[in-house]
Amino acid sequence: MIPPIVLPQLVPSRTCLQCDVCCRFPDPDSALRPYFTENEITWALAGSVEETAFPNRRGSQVILVPEPHGDGYLCPAFETATSTCRIYEQRPFDCQLYPLALMWDEPHEQVLLGWDTKCPFMREEIPAEIQRHADRVRALLDRPDIQDHVVAHPRLIGRFQEDVIVLAHLPRLTEAVAGQWGPMPLHRFTLDDIPHMTASLDRSGLCGPQSLAAYSPVYHYMWNGLLAYWWMDLQGALCLFAQSPDGWFMPLPPIGAGSIDAPLFDAMGLLRRRNGDSAVSRVENVPSQLVPELERLGYRVTPKEPDYLYRAADLAALAGDRYKSQRALCNRFEREQSFEMHSYQMSDRQDCRALLGDWSRQKQAKGLESFGVMLLADASSAHEVLWSQASVLRVTGRIVRTHGRLCAYTFGYWLTSTTFCVLLEVTDRTLPGLAQYLFRETCRTALAEGAEYINAMDDAGLPGLRASKQAYHPALLIPNFVAVPARES
Ligand code: SF4
Repeated sequence: MIPPIVLPQLVPSRTCLQCDVCCRFPDPDSALRPYFTENEITWALAGSVEETAFPNRRGSQVILVPEPHGDGYLCPAFETATSTCRIYEQRPFDCQLYPLALMWDEPHEQVLLGWDTKCPFMREEIPAEIQRHADRVRALLDRPDIQDHVVAHPRLIGRFQEDVIVLAHLPRLTEAVAGQWGPMPLHRFTLDDIPHMTASLDRSGLCGPQSLAAYSPVYHYMWNGLLAYWWMDLQGALCLFAQSPDGWFMPLPPIGAGSIDAPLFDAMGLLRRRNGDSAVSRVENVPSQLVPELERLGYRVTPKEPDYLYRAADLAALAGDRYKSQRALCNRFEREQSFEMHSYQMSDRQDCRALLGDWSRQKQAKGLESFGVMLLADASSAHEVLWSQASVLRVTGRIVRTHGRLCAYTFGYWLTSTTFCVLLEVTDRTLPGLAQYLFRETCRTALAEGAEYINAMDDAGLPGLRASKQAYHPALLIPNFVAVPARES
C-alpha cells in the first residue's frame, strides 16, 4: 500500500466536529460524495469500510448508506455516534482537499481551484487566510505525483458549482488532463443533464412507442452509483459513456438528428483512448433500424435479450384462457388479503428498504441463479436513487400495504405518451398473487392514463424471468443488439 497523499488543513477539527455538512448528503446519488482512488480504497478497506461501498475497485465514488435516524445518506466511513471519520488519517485526497474543491469552469475548458461556501467555516475566516491556504495547495497540485494522481482520476474534478468561490485557475493541471484524456469536454451525467438528453432523444427519432426502454434518461441515471456515466456532444450528437470496472462503453448509440457515422467515429476514438484495444469498447442497446448502418461501418452486431412489449389492454383485462393462471392469482390475492394501494411517497422509503432486504433474502433462499444474485446486490443503490429522486426523475411509484405493512412496490416511467415502462417490481413473495395483482393494477392505471403499450424491459438472460415474461404473451419482442468495432472482434 502506498502511503496516502497528505494535504495541509485549514479548518480546525473543533469546527468540523460541531458542523453537520461534511460526510452527510441529502440524496444517494449526490455528485459531491467522495471519490476514492484504488490505493485509497485499499486503505479504506483496511480501516474496515465495507467492500460493497466501492463499485469499482480501481477508483470510484463511494456508495452512500442511509442515515440510521434520518432521511439523508452518509459516507460509510462516517461514525454517527462521534460525528467523526473512521479513517480520518487515511481519508481520501478528495476529502482532504475540502473545503477547497477542484472543478471545471462553466464552459468546461479550465480546471479551477475553488472554495466551497457550503462549508460554514467560510463565514468565519478572513479571505486572506483562505487565499494563503489555497496558494499552498495550488503549489502542491503542481507536484508531479499529485498531478498524476488527479490526471489518473479525472472524477476528482467536479462540474462547475456557482456556490464555489474561484480562487485560482490551474493551467498546468488543465493541460495535463487534456494531454491524457483529450481536449474535448467530457461531463459527468447528472440530474441537470436529463433535459439535454431528453431533447436529444426527441430529435433523434430513435424514441417511439415500440422503442427499447433504454431510450430514456432514467433507465441509465438510476445506475449512476454503480457505473459512472459521462456524456459529451460530438458532431451534433449526444454521446453517453458508462465507466464500468472492466472499462468504458457506450450504453446507447450517438443520439442526434443526423447520421451516427461521424459522432460514432469520434466516440470510438475516445473509447480507444480509455480502453486501449480492449474488446470492452462497444455500443449497447442498438435498435434494429441502426443495424444496417453499423454493419456498413464495419461493426460486428450481435443480438442480446430483447425488451418485452405488451398491449396495455391485454394486461389490464387478463381476459381469456391464455391469462387464466394470472387472473386466478389476482383473484386469490384480492380474496385472501385486506390491503390498500397508494402512490409512492418519500415517507415510504424506509419501508421499501426493509421490503427490498426481505425480498432479496426470499429470492436467494429460493436458489436464484448466481447472475441473478449479483443483479440483486447491484440493484439496491439503483432502488435508493428511485426512492429518493422519483419526482425529479418523473418516475411513478405505487405501493401496496397489508394491515399497514408495506408488502410491494413498483416504479415505472413513460417512454412516450403511449408506452409505459415498468422499471421494477418488488413484492413479498409469501403473499400468493401479490406480484400478479400489482402488475395488473399498474397496467390498468397506465391504460387509463393513455398507454397503448407496456414495456416490461428484458429478462437479463434469467430463465425464470423469461418464462414469467413469456407467460404474459408479449405483442412484440423488441430486438436489441450490441455493436463491437470489427477489428476488435
Ligand atoms: S471518508 Fe471520512 S472525511 Fe471523507 S466523507 Fe467519508 S467520513 Fe467524511
